[in-house]
Amino acid sequence: MSIRVMQNYINGDWVDSTTDVFGTVSNPALGEQIASVPYGNAQDVNMAVQAAVDAFPEWRETPPLARARYLFRLKDAFEEEFEEIARVLTIEQGKAIDESRGEVRRMIENIEHATGVTTMMTGYCLEDIAQGVDSSLYRQPMGVFACIAPYNFPAMVPWWFLPYALVTGNTFVLKPSEQVPMTQNRIFEVIDDVGFPEGVVNMVNGSRDVVNAILEHEDIEGVSFVGSTPTAKYIYERCGATGKRVQSLGGAKNIVAVMPDADVQAGMPSLITSFFGCAGQRCLSGSILSPVGEGADAFVDKFVAATKAMKVGDGLDESVAMGPVVSKAHQERVLAYIEKGVAEGADLILDGRNFSVAGYPDGFFVGPTIFDNVTPDMTIAREEIFGPVVSIIRSETLDDVIQLVNTRNFANAACIYTQNAKAVREMRYKAAPGMIGVNIGIAAPMSFFPFGGSGNSMFGDIKGHGREIFQFFTDTKVVIERYF
Ligand code: NAD
Repeated sequence: MSIRVMQNYINGDWVDSTTDVFGTVSNPALGEQIASVPYGNAQDVNMAVQAAVDAFPEWRETPPLARARYLFRLKDAFEEEFEEIARVLTIEQGKAIDESRGEVRRMIENIEHATGVTTMMTGYCLEDIAQGVDSSLYRQPMGVFACIAPYNFPAMVPWWFLPYALVTGNTFVLKPSEQVPMTQNRIFEVIDDVGFPEGVVNMVNGSRDVVNAILEHEDIEGVSFVGSTPTAKYIYERCGATGKRVQSLGGAKNIVAVMPDADVQAGMPSLITSFFGCAGQRCLSGSILSPVGEGADAFVDKFVAATKAMKVGDGLDESVAMGPVVSKAHQERVLAYIEKGVAEGADLILDGRNFSVAGYPDGFFVGPTIFDNVTPDMTIAREEIFGPVVSIIRSETLDDVIQLVNTRNFANAACIYTQNAKAVREMRYKAAPGMIGVNIGIAAPMSFFPFGGSGNSMFGDIKGHGREIFQFFTDTKVVIERYF
């Protein structure tokens, strides 16, 4: 079988990268190579940015509604290609096909929200700020923006930013994750069919060299980053040093509290997907499960039983709920965390090591894993594992859980299962994370609300999508005027 080599999309054309360094893209269920990705360089980035710079003046002058019409066309085209994009996503990332469909739906919802530009981009004005003097505020596009994306949501995450940047009149350069470049490749084929003006939207494949070239490029006005906390911090610092706008979303250690009055039966499906969906590789995955007060034993038994009932296998199989993790290296990393949990004395009540799926001997699978009687100081309770590993920490009170939440080194999301409004208010009021779920698992904000955590899970002030994203991609200009 010939291995497909990914190309860059620059100035409306598919072009080869100038690099001679390539990485491997794998099907994680089969554990075999399916494509080759160029690890591009500054020359590739310079070409893409130059195309975006050249395209900016005319794109900026295109009326906002006319820009939005490109997005309407794109939405229709994505609906046509919906199943194909989801299929490519599962093949390279591994997640269950229905989750891929959900991801593509979330991607399209960002396009839908972005088309509200004629309302969302408006400024404001006031007469007579002094006698005979009027003042007004305009929102203007700034130039070229870039996005650097993670591997766990290959379709959706770049689209938390891309449609908003374009519809506000900026031009764009995307660097997808080098681990999963095929999904955006398919998406850019659709972009190419829709036919944006040349240079308005570009894509450069690669790894760190491409990132660093983006960070150093003086014609890039701002960067939207999503990935792990160490990289997020690095991006934030470099953008500060080079004077770029930046929104930099990092890692997570999400905690789910289950109160004694929770409706466990109704909540179990969302609990299970929160911990094991995408094989635990979501920034919104549950990581620590904290049953509160009496009844914890019975709850843990039910949770383990529901976990065992889940089918693990190739994400393309419609009956599969959990697929493999993304790579051999990541499989080894997750397994090392399980070993660490055992070594530090947690009770391994469901062991996902040595897990195999019939017919997939080389797949990067880690079985669902549950530790009980974990303590807050253990490594598995402190670090982001990003795999299907649950750490159960039993708590006496909700205050104990909130304390646990607020002493992790992350503050992305938390969730509470309860019927008690006071407990919900306590969680909402006191817990640090920027996203809170109530009886819904670790739920993702939709495109018209902001997505992002706090603390070490988010560097910058404007988060992904939501209303505020229109501010990230525009600068304000205030005019103060009087006439004689
Ligand atoms: P990652 O940080 O390894 O990579 C993200 C991007 O940064 C990739 O495009 C990669 O090429 C680049 N990169 C990686 N290391 C770099 C370096 N040293 N210098 C320059 N560029 C570098 O993240 P990942 O493993 O792809 O994604 C998983 C992480 O993303 C998890 O930590 C997860 O929690 C996080 N995530 C967060 C959110 C959120 O909303 N906060 C959403 C999705 C994923």
